[in-house]
Amino acid sequence: MAAELEAEVPAFDRSLLECSAEELAAKWLQTNDLQKEVYQHLAYYVPKIYCRGPNPAPQREDLLAQQVLLGPMEWYLCGEDPAFGFPKLEQANKPSHLCGRVFKVGEPTYSCRDCAVDPTCVLCMECFLGSIHKEHRYRMTTSGGGGFCDCGDTEAWKEGPYCKKHEINTSETEEEEDPLVHLSEDMVARAYNIFAITFKYAVDILTWEKENELPGLEMTEKSDTYYCMLFNDEVHTYEQVIYTLQKAVNCTQKEAIGFATTVDRDGRRSVRYGDFQYCEQAKSVIVRNTSRQTKPLKVQVMHSSIVAHQSFGLKLLTWLGSIIGYSDGLRRILCQVGLQEGPDGENSSLVDKLMLSDSKLWKGARNVYHQLFMSSLLMDLKYKKLFAIRFARNYERLQSDFMKDDHDREFSIADLSIQIFTVPSLARMLITEENLMTTIIKTFMDHLRHRDIQGRFQFERYTALQAFKFRRVQSLILDLKYVLISKPTEWSDDLRHKFLEGFDAFLELLKCMQGMDPITRQVGQHIEMEPEWEAAFTLQMKLTLVISMMQDWCALDEKVLIEAYKKCLAVLMQCHSGFTDGEQPIVLNMCGHSVETIRYCVSQEKVSIHLPVSRLLAGLHVLLSKTEVAYKFPELLPLSELSPPMLIEHPLRCLVLCAQVHAGMWRRNGFSLVNQIYYYHNVKCRREMFDKDIVMLQTGVSMMDPNHFLMIMLSRFELYQIFSTPDYGKRFSTENTNKDIVQQNNTLIEEMLYLIIMIVGERFSPGIGQVNATDEIKREIIHQLSIRPMAHSELVKALPEDENRETGMESVIEEVACFKKPGLTGRGLYELKPECTRNFNLYFYHFSRAEQSKAEEAQRKLRKQNREDTALPPPALPPFCPLFASLVNILQSDVMLCIMGTILQWAVEHNGYAWSESMLQRVLHLLGMALQEEKQHLENLSEENVVTFTFTQKISKPGDAPNNSPSILAMLETLQNAPHLEVHKDMIRWILKTFNAIKKLRESSSTSPVAETEGNIMEESSRDKDKAERKRKAEIARLRREKIMAQMSEMQRHFINENKELFQQTLEELDTSASGVHDNSPVTSDAKLTALGPEQTRVAEHRQVVMCILCQEEQEVKVDSRAMVLAAFIQRSTVLSKNRSKTIPDPEKYDPLFMHPDLSCGTHTGSCGHIMHAHCWQRYFDAVQAKEQRRQQRLRVHTSYDVENGEFLCPLCECLSNTVIPLLPPPRVLFNRSVYFSGQPNLAHWIKTVCQQIKALYLLRDEDCASKSKELSEKMDELQLPEGFRPDFQPKNPYSESIKEMLTTFGTATYKVGLKVHPNEEDPRVPIMCWGSCAYTIQTIGKIVVSVAFSLKDDCLTSLTRFAAAHWTVSSLSAVQGHFCTLLASLVPNEKNGNLPCILDIDMFHLLVNLVLSFPAIHCQDFSGVSLGTGDLHLFHLVTMAHIIQILLTSSTEENGMDQENTSSEEEVAVLTLYKFLCQCTGSALKEISSGWHLWKNLKAGIMPFLRCSALFFHYLNGVPAPSEMEVSGTNQFEHLCSYLSLPNNLTCLFQENSDIMNTLIESWCSNNEVKRYLEGKRHAISYARESNKLIDLPDDYSCLINQASNFSCPKSGGDKSRAPTLCLVCGTMLCSQSYCCQTELEGEDVGACTAHTYTCGSGVGIFLRVRECQVLFLAGKTKGCFYPPPYLDDYGETDQGLRRGNPLHLCKERFKKIQKLWQQHSITEEIGHAQEANQTLVGIDWQHL
Ligand SMILES: [Zn+2]
Ligand SMILES: [Zn+2]
Ligand SMILES: [Zn+2]
Ligand SMILES: [Zn+2]
Ligand SMILES: [Zn+2]
Ligand SMILES: [Zn+2]
Ligand SMILES: [Zn+2]
Repeated sequence: MAAELEAEVPAFDRSLLECSAEELAAKWLQTNDLQKEVYQHLAYYVPKIYCRGPNPAPQREDLLAQQVLLGPMEWYLCGEDPAFGFPKLEQANKPSHLCGRVFKVGEPTYSCRDCAVDPTCVLCMECFLGSIHKEHRYRMTTSGGGGFCDCGDTEAWKEGPYCKKHEINTSETEEEEDPLVHLSEDMVARAYNIFAITFKYAVDILTWEKENELPGLEMTEKSDTYYCMLFNDEVHTYEQVIYTLQKAVNCTQKEAIGFATTVDRDGRRSVRYGDFQYCEQAKSVIVRNTSRQTKPLKVQVMHSSIVAHQSFGLKLLTWLGSIIGYSDGLRRILCQVGLQEGPDGENSSLVDKLMLSDSKLWKGARNVYHQLFMSSLLMDLKYKKLFAIRFARNYERLQSDFMKDDHDREFSIADLSIQIFTVPSLARMLITEENLMTTIIKTFMDHLRHRDIQGRFQFERYTALQAFKFRRVQSLILDLKYVLISKPTEWSDDLRHKFLEGFDAFLELLKCMQGMDPITRQVGQHIEMEPEWEAAFTLQMKLTLVISMMQDWCALDEKVLIEAYKKCLAVLMQCHSGFTDGEQPIVLNMCGHSVETIRYCVSQEKVSIHLPVSRLLAGLHVLLSKTEVAYKFPELLPLSELSPPMLIEHPLRCLVLCAQVHAGMWRRNGFSLVNQIYYYHNVKCRREMFDKDIVMLQTGVSMMDPNHFLMIMLSRFELYQIFSTPDYGKRFSTENTNKDIVQQNNTLIEEMLYLIIMIVGERFSPGIGQVNATDEIKREIIHQLSIRPMAHSELVKALPEDENRETGMESVIEEVACFKKPGLTGRGLYELKPECTRNFNLYFYHFSRAEQSKAEEAQRKLRKQNREDTALPPPALPPFCPLFASLVNILQSDVMLCIMGTILQWAVEHNGYAWSESMLQRVLHLLGMALQEEKQHLENLSEENVVTFTFTQKISKPGDAPNNSPSILAMLETLQNAPHLEVHKDMIRWILKTFNAIKKLRESSSTSPVAETEGNIMEESSRDKDKAERKRKAEIARLRREKIMAQMSEMQRHFINENKELFQQTLEELDTSASGVHDNSPVTSDAKLTALGPEQTRVAEHRQVVMCILCQEEQEVKVDSRAMVLAAFIQRSTVLSKNRSKTIPDPEKYDPLFMHPDLSCGTHTGSCGHIMHAHCWQRYFDAVQAKEQRRQQRLRVHTSYDVENGEFLCPLCECLSNTVIPLLPPPRVLFNRSVYFSGQPNLAHWIKTVCQQIKALYLLRDEDCASKSKELSEKMDELQLPEGFRPDFQPKNPYSESIKEMLTTFGTATYKVGLKVHPNEEDPRVPIMCWGSCAYTIQTIGKIVVSVAFSLKDDCLTSLTRFAAAHWTVSSLSAVQGHFCTLLASLVPNEKNGNLPCILDIDMFHLLVNLVLSFPAIHCQDFSGVSLGTGDLHLFHLVTMAHIIQILLTSSTEENGMDQENTSSEEEVAVLTLYKFLCQCTGSALKEISSGWHLWKNLKAGIMPFLRCSALFFHYLNGVPAPSEMEVSGTNQFEHLCSYLSLPNNLTCLFQENSDIMNTLIESWCSNNEVKRYLEGKRHAISYARESNKLIDLPDDYSCLINQASNFSCPKSGGDKSRAPTLCLVCGTMLCSQSYCCQTELEGEDVGACTAHTYTCGSGVGIFLRVRECQVLFLAGKTKGCFYPPPYLDDYGETDQGLRRGNPLHLCKERFKKIQKLWQQHSITEEIGHAQEANQTLVGIDWQHL
């Protein structure tokens, strides 16, 4: 150890090492004043170890600190060598049954929906996997850091509190055993001493505020060195800090980034080291630079000694944390020390001191001591309680500090409330003993100071600062929630008392909200400024759960409920006393009833949407009914004090306000009101807003005369006049010509009727109706699913959550819905069970208007499908609870009948717009409800009860004089036949039917059966008539439909004939030549199809006519006509790469002639297949370019495509493209001038001839270059120019100018993209890149279609191949000839081309394509009569043989004699012979193999991909259709391929046939040095067949990935946790994305880790999984990217992007395959393009920084 240190520590530090821990500890054990000794030691050594320079040296500091400072303390504590002492302690310790693991940022945490007491109870992954909850409905989240595992906490879990690991220690449940008994007395004393001194030292130094002095320590270091310390705040951005630092301390950007990153992480960092002046100067620059808009960055100049001691103070705290890990006894001693009151009394303990200076500490210090608290105080049951009390006593102060602090809550001690308050026993104790509820609420109120004159909250305009403060205040509500989350099972008098005290405080709070943000209707002018409303609603929203929980608590104890009810009522009366002043009383009269009320118009006076006190009372009132307190102790309740009109007044106003807003009367009040109304009904608020207002009305009506209620309601709706005065409505509509006003009134009437429906019909809350909680949820779900089938997450969103973030949906969903699994896209859906549709209520109160109409439509459609009538009658309802029972009478009250009668009358008279169908529909619904009610009453009739509900009688009676209006029943019968009410007929009929049924029920006991049948007959006959009429109409409709259909299809036929070409956009040529041949022409199966060579099957030439998508003109594809082009996209690709680490070093010099078999980087060309004229495209592209340039100048916006790089979108399908491919006729026929005759040369002969030609060319060129020699011809003679070879012949280019231009365009584009260089059409590498792209693209296709060998009609590949074959005509002839010569030389060596790759390092398919496509350049000068096809065939055979040798050389199969057949076939013998020959050539370096069977099997498997690609290539080149058998995968595929490619089935025959030349060639191949090295095992080579690349394997359980990511730390910033760990799905590398620390420079720009990675791993294209977000990321280049749904689904068939839902996620293999396919097909860039076109916001994202 010493030796190690010496190297690092400067000389003057050497003395430090002489300090002996053992001796020092011995001295300390003797001393009387230990503190003095220790302090002296620290004062002397700490500054010598810490802070010796501008940058911290943590490793050195830690080593020295352990040796010099901590070592002695450990010796002292143990009383012996700590190396023995600590293990002893550990052994003696009875380990805790609490896990207490503190979570790292991003670590997965688990909670159990079934067993967790509240959602804050979580387990670490290890505990979770060993717990019973693994099998339950669990929830998974990632931790934000802080917090710890609750395993072992019996209060946190209803069941299974221990995992397997922590269960062991619970056998003896003697909790209260004192852990100190395991320690010796001496040890206790020593521990106490040293803990007290060190803890105090640490606390003192950390909370020290003076700059030049130390607490109780001498300043030993006299040197005047200072630090300029920069502190973190949450106000300034990274960029601001970096910029400022560069200016202030003159550092590089990189250093500045480093400083900023550390400041952000640790909360402070010294940015300058030196004398005071020097540091002060930097400080002033920083302050000046950052103080302009906000408060300046915090900077402090500190003496280096102070910084040194602070560093060690932190180290000490960490040390204490680890020491107490050895023993519970030590932990307890530390707790004792920490909580011991100091000499200054209250708040003087060390723990208090730390807590109270929390907001003054920097982040790093806070983290350290919070962690210490968690591992000490919170892990010790006894001290947890004492600490909780300290925390509660300091609560107000801590919260105030937190409000002023600008750090996030997770860095504040206030955040510990979650650890304390969520423990039920602690929470209960703190409520009763520390009055915590009241404290929290009062603290909360103290921080919301702004009030109006009435004492209500008043929020200022919502500024950022306000929002910031307000958010902090809200965390107090969260604390209140924690305290209330677990409900008491037993009540003590103390608890009752303190709860009610808290309830009082809560009522005070609600009182400040009652009536806040009042609004007045704006008339004439639009409001000038939208009033502030968000703060009030945020408050309401946050309090919603607390209000509900308060009610839950009240419901648990009768005494508490009664008291709470009284208190609430009292507060409500106080609120009202100030309200009704000045409102004049008036008297209303209607139908012989009269009521007194006040004159008040919502549309003219102030009204507020915030009525929490009323709503709380409504909630408590329901509880009186639910708990039956109302019946048990009526004498204790102030029911007689209730004034129903007073109760309903404000809720009614609020509901009228909504109606008026809907009627358009409040348009001038702007959006703030619209928003408020929206949230009032929204699922987040409605439970304690809208719902409770309805309850309050129900409460009111149940206690008053319904007629009185209706009259008051009419008056508040400002409709009283219309209904109270006979004929007023009629007059109103005729006199009032203002359509808007009439419309307004109609809407108001509709809204009022709707409200009545709700008051009577909404009885699904326990306590109102006789239902239970699940009935309520079931009903919600049924109505959501009536709209349409929904995914789990949608349903969850539509249902209100409880404090456990549960909707209760799981318990009932199976009863009402069926689950349908998702397909490849979309999500799993729940569908309503058919039997549940009868519970559908069209006027369900939680429907929004849009939902209501959608549901109506869906339900009617469903009924039509089931051939039922389409009436949607009200469902049968559960009976009311007794307290609300009288509510039903509203339906049969005189005023109600009058309202309904009036509206029916309007409908009967049907004049003008005084009524609406909606109005009628609602009246019909109300009638239906009343009938249902009466029917139920009759059915449940018991002997002693008299039926008081006599609706049927009342509606049969005609109106009284003077009206003499007909009875409601009569009017209905009239309406049944009204032609204008067709839609409502079913409903009216349903009403009449029900009416008759009730009549029957009533009469069944008394009257004769005659009347009954009479009624029936009447009904039946009318029904039959109706049916017949309908049938007739339906028939007419059907005939009409048929006629139209006939006309339509006629038109369609015509259209198709007219626009034939539109429907035949695919190349006609291909249709006829390729598929056409084997579709209808008599190609019998024995007619052999041959793709190449002199025997090649002749293909009849066809005219190929195509249409331009831009000008719609059609044109034939001919050599001499204008060019037609396909939109195409070229990209570099590594999809097939077997070596991802390889990059092209210098693209300017790179020679792409030979492709390495690792296929590390290829060029892929794809196309959407849309055809244009070349000139049309040019015009289109120029226009796009011009437009984009203008746009970019103006707006500086990005687009999804990069015009400057030649990118554009296909004008038809918007597919991303960056060039065009010309369409060409089959090119080979053009150059093949040979007439076919027999006597084509054999391979050996042909090679000889070609070699001669090559020689001649070389010679010629040498001469050319040297000088114009006159003796040229002589030399030529000397050479013996092969027969018919005319090297001076320059072939004429057969293509039109326009085609030539396109050949160059596409060729140059391929070159530019493929090599990433500037375009240069002259570069000799252009043709190579074109051939390469053709070969590579065919290879990718060959990989994808393995079973189905061919995709025969591929415009893109056909064009690409033909283009590549034609491209030589526009390049330099000599260059192409040169390429051919070099290529051939790799197989047939000559003396000119040395140093070519050996055959192991050549991809044979690329070689084949290059050879075949460059060959015409030589062949065109050959007039000897050898056909081009002969050349193709020989080249193909030659390359195939080379490939066979390649395969045999690299074959790695182990011999295995077990499964081979005995009889050896001809092939097996032959291949063995060949192998033996190879052995000879390689000097027996090859492995001995005796089984021909294995060799042959290997060879066949190895060569298949090559054959498949070759077949595709020649097919596209020569257009010979493939035999249909070949498309079927199967055992014979090999034979079919051989036959098609003109190969013998026994491939080794090739060698035998050409043995004369082949033996020499093989020998030359094998003698290559590289081959030898390979065989000697000195190098690696690719073996065949190459497996196709796949994306990495992903685990089935997503949490594995989360765990993996949480263990991943940023590779650049020394073990820090990465914020956005991102997994490359191509190679499996984990990256630290979206973070400054891992930005690198790429081509002069800063890019994030992902973008940088794509350049090495995917040549610019990348597929990633962002693990924290559970989101797939596609990247292409620096500017393109999009997010894609992850392949992980929960049990409900849904993805969880952002991991918000937290359901367990599992890999969906199909979806993952889909992503893989996108990658393999090179469609990632295209996918991004489409995503960006669809969603413009994606374009703005800085993808390069990810
Ligand atoms: Zn755990
Ligand atoms: Zn555990
Ligand atoms: Zn569980
Ligand atoms: Zn055109
Ligand atoms: Zn297209
Ligand atoms: Zn990083
Ligand atoms: Zn990768």
